[in-house]
Amino acid sequence: MTFDPETTTLLIAGPVRIHPRVLRAMSMSSLNHRGDYFHGVVQEIRELLPVLFGAKGHQVILTGSGTSGLEAMYSALVPTSGRTLVIANGNFGDRTNEIVRRCSTQVTTVSAPWGQPLPLDAAKAELAKGDVKAVCVVHNETSVGLANDLAALAPAIRDSGALFLVDGISAVAGIPVPIEAWGIDAVVAGSQKGLAAPAGLALVHLSDRARAALHGGTYYLDLAKHLKSLEKNDTPWTPAVPLFLALREALLLLKEEGLAHRLDRTHRLAEATRHAVDALGLELYPDRRYASDTVTAVKNPAGMGDPELRKVLEREYNVLVQGGQGSLTGKIFRIGHMGIADWPDLLVTFAALERTLARAGRAPPAGAAVKAIVERMP
Ligand code: PLP
Repeated sequence: MTFDPETTTLLIAGPVRIHPRVLRAMSMSSLNHRGDYFHGVVQEIRELLPVLFGAKGHQVILTGSGTSGLEAMYSALVPTSGRTLVIANGNFGDRTNEIVRRCSTQVTTVSAPWGQPLPLDAAKAELAKGDVKAVCVVHNETSVGLANDLAALAPAIRDSGALFLVDGISAVAGIPVPIEAWGIDAVVAGSQKGLAAPAGLALVHLSDRARAALHGGTYYLDLAKHLKSLEKNDTPWTPAVPLFLALREALLLLKEEGLAHRLDRTHRLAEATRHAVDALGLELYPDRRYASDTVTAVKNPAGMGDPELRKVLEREYNVLVQGGQGSLTGKIFRIGHMGIADWPDLLVTFAALERTLARAGRAPPAGAAVKAIVERMP
């Protein structure tokens, strides 16, 4: 078997596999984005977005990848005067830090080494000083397969009165993000993750308080301008029309499945993945208590880097999993199991992993990983 992008078993950490209905929805000739048909599409998307976020609020669709949503959120909500707290423990936490530092000169960053739980005590100590105006944090740290314990942080943020700004790009529609219960003021989702739409759109949810606090930001991504246009089912600039059509269909699929069902299915796939990793004698990268349900990060076996592991999976079995980022390149691999990923994807991936390890002389117990999955299938 050779790698074939059209038929590959795709379990990277996003973009995830796209349903044929979503693919078909995109295949349309150019539309007049200022015409009634497209305004109807935008209206339907607006009506469906609360399904994605599990909450009503002020919700924006931006043409641009997830990072555009982060830039929109931070540039308009990080206060121009007053202290902002960034809490980081991975590659995307570091990215948040970089963006936020372009928006303010009064930034305090508390961080833990990549893959370690958030430094909650240090964060709470900063909040207790009483002058923090905004807190910026990644919910699901995709780079290390770790779901941050925002439930433990939320009460301290609420008590401080600071704005609670969240990168939910690989969390939304993958793990529970109780926006209202935690008092989140703004959260960004990416189209290519739990929602299983194509890459290239960012979705931003704002609370009433966040909407009132918007203070401009960048020109193209000005959230207030986008909200004003959306009230008329319009967009300020030419949107990525095919992606909007795909987004509508992906949201309809999510509505048909139900958000709670998608979260539960993602959780069960993640549990099965973790047990299959154990069965192969491999080790999770992050502390198991915080292992993410959307992305499982696994330590590479000693002596096996990307050429021996991921490249063999790709070349011999047409299976794609993701490598590590930055200093973790060649040291971990990551299996994404969000969106419309399903049991057959896990069965194929773990069968291929077992054979790859066996060919490298590691001989994991035959069939054990597949058995671990089969036993957890509904
Ligand atoms: N933040 C998190 C948590 C992510 O997982 C990603 C992408 O994987 C990003 C930010 C960046 O998103 P994008 O690559 O869509 O700009």
